[in-house]
Amino acid sequence: MSIRARLALAFALLLGLSLALAALALGRLDDLTTKSREMVDRQAQRALLAQQANRHAQAAAIGLLSLLQTPRREDRVPLYAAMDAELAASDRGVRALGEGAADSGEQAMMARVADIRQRYGELFQTTVETLEIEGQAPARAHFMARTGKLLNTLLFETDALEAGIQARLQSGLDDMRTVAAEARHAVMLGALAALALGAVLAWIIGRGIVVPLREAVGLAGAIAGGDYRAAVPCCRKDELGELLRSLDSMRDSIASREERLARVAYVDLLTGLPNRAHLMEQVAKQAPQDTCALAILDIRRFAPINHALGHAVGDRLLTELGARLRHHLADGNEVARLWGDKFAVLFTATDRAGVQSRLDDLLERLRQPLAIDGQRLDVDASVGVALFPADASDAASLMRRASLALDAAKGCQCGYAFATDIGAEPAPEQLSLIGEMREALAADQFVLHYQPKLDLASRRVAGAEALIRWRHPQRGMVPPAHFIPFAERTGFIREITPWALRRAVADAAAWQTAGLNIVVAVNLSARDLLNRELVAEVGHLLATSGLDPRRLCLEITESALMDDPDLALHHLHELAALGLKLSIDDYGTGQASLAYVKTLPVHELKVDRAFVAGVDSTPRNAAILRSTLLLCRELGLSVVAEGAETAAEIDWLRANDCDLVQGYAVARPMPEADFRTWVAAHAEARAVVA
Ligand code: C2E
Ligand code: MG
Ligand code: MG
Repeated sequence: MSIRARLALAFALLLGLSLALAALALGRLDDLTTKSREMVDRQAQRALLAQQANRHAQAAAIGLLSLLQTPRREDRVPLYAAMDAELAASDRGVRALGEGAADSGEQAMMARVADIRQRYGELFQTTVETLEIEGQAPARAHFMARTGKLLNTLLFETDALEAGIQARLQSGLDDMRTVAAEARHAVMLGALAALALGAVLAWIIGRGIVVPLREAVGLAGAIAGGDYRAAVPCCRKDELGELLRSLDSMRDSIASREERLARVAYVDLLTGLPNRAHLMEQVAKQAPQDTCALAILDIRRFAPINHALGHAVGDRLLTELGARLRHHLADGNEVARLWGDKFAVLFTATDRAGVQSRLDDLLERLRQPLAIDGQRLDVDASVGVALFPADASDAASLMRRASLALDAAKGCQCGYAFATDIGAEPAPEQLSLIGEMREALAADQFVLHYQPKLDLASRRVAGAEALIRWRHPQRGMVPPAHFIPFAERTGFIREITPWALRRAVADAAAWQTAGLNIVVAVNLSARDLLNRELVAEVGHLLATSGLDPRRLCLEITESALMDDPDLALHHLHELAALGLKLSIDDYGTGQASLAYVKTLPVHELKVDRAFVAGVDSTPRNAAILRSTLLLCRELGLSVVAEGAETAAEIDWLRANDCDLVQGYAVARPMPEADFRTWVAAHAEARAVVA
């Protein structure tokens, strides 16, 4: 029953009871009033009758006395009529009293009065007859001896009768009072019963409201505390039942929304795999319990596939690979998608040998060709592995170490690399530098120094390499080796390279305006070459600065081409199409052969310092350089010998027809203003020599 119906019923019950009580009380009151009025009326009437009978009897007696004292008969005759009337009235009174006698006691009394009255009448008659026949004296004697005495008795009896009637009236009134008290009692009892009933109803209704409300409060508390299992009483049909059911459905909606949120927060929506946040939690849970290994997989050539076949195919590829990884992973191990084309696998309870065998197996399965939209795709992955607790003490550093290992794996093209093999993490000092880099860029703490590239044949300054320096307010001039590798790892290089490009192009444009014919060279890192916006940025810079594209050279290392050769090559072609120069830096330190370099749209080769050092005195270096120079000439590439520190090395290089030289023997890298002074001084010296 609804609360409203219950309350209405309770109030109706109480109201009905109160009305019944009031009606009962009024009824009893009416009854009492009527009865008492009737009784008082009747008894008063009877008392009056008794009084009248008495008075008339007395009046008749007085009439008789005056008759006895009236000597003449003619004077007595008119008195007889008055006496008779009094006697008749007294008789009527006595008769009426006799008829209205209430009980046997009163009837007996009335019978005695009537009897006395009868006898008094007879004696009265006898007295009158004696008066008329025998004269006044005998009549007076008869009156005194008999009639008068009986009259006294009669008067006494009627007085007693009246007193009895009065007493009866009093007792009747007392009875009425008793009845009224009883009625009052009954009404009070009724009121008390109504009060008790009201209290019981209030308790029942209150309980019916309070108990479910408490349940609702408990349920709301449980929901607030994240407990969605508490049972909801569902049998109530009233408004509170409705409230509980609403709470129940609210709880279900919250639970499902929370589940959806958790899904979004912990699941990668593309592949349906756990995401990075979930994996990190798993690692944090797993690591303290047992040994484990975290492997980060980077899908090779994913970017060109995405680029060439479209994002829909790229997404399908990632989904398929995710499913494949999950399918081939043993129970207890976990796979997640971190971002882009990077997946991670958490191997539990394992050591290096265990991971190695599981990874070999996993990579073999991963490398099976995939068919998407009728296209056969060959996939492969580079993997970086970090072991707990050997490489890291917590989840975050395990992830960091695995990422560093992945960088190494990509560089060496060897499938996978272990963090243990690539040395320790950057020192805290270097880590803090990484943190400061962003502020440094905003505070203009980076500068470019220029190192001349000398044309060996003409001894002219043909170019200059822009080399970045960090003018650190506390540490002084920080060399690029201390921060560029970390900028590359953290992605901050994406901000440094555009800055260096802007600065170098602006300086070169100023040189161009000043009539200096110098090619400025800017270093690109591996990540830059995979940056889709780079080509557009360089094109925009050239267009806005007015710099002749032939006066800009971009130096790239071989490793930049290894990570994603197709995309890198694509960008190289686009850059070459802008009309600028491309140079292969540090040639000889990596795997690239000249046969490979030949396929690239590059114009220049910078032979690494390792081969230039002591070239005049080291036959092995001399042999390598000589053959490289020969081949480059065949391929139409100009050669820069890097790091020449002695005049003897320069002489050897000139003698062997090397095109350009860059090294301390010519000049050290210097600030732009110094560089211009240096160039001017060099030109003068050259003119003097010439
Ligand atoms: P790199 O591109 O091979 O630059 C040449 C490095 O050799 C420079 O070091 C230069 O100072 C040094 N060098 C030149 N001549 C000699 C010599 O005769 N003897 C010796 N021992 N060294 C010589 P630096 O300036 O410390 O730069 C180191 C590397 O940092 C550069 O190697 C380049 O890979 C990178 N780097 C410098 N500036 C930038 C930049 O703006 N962007 C990027 N991505 N990398 C940069
Ligand atoms: Mg360079
Ligand atoms: Mg170099």
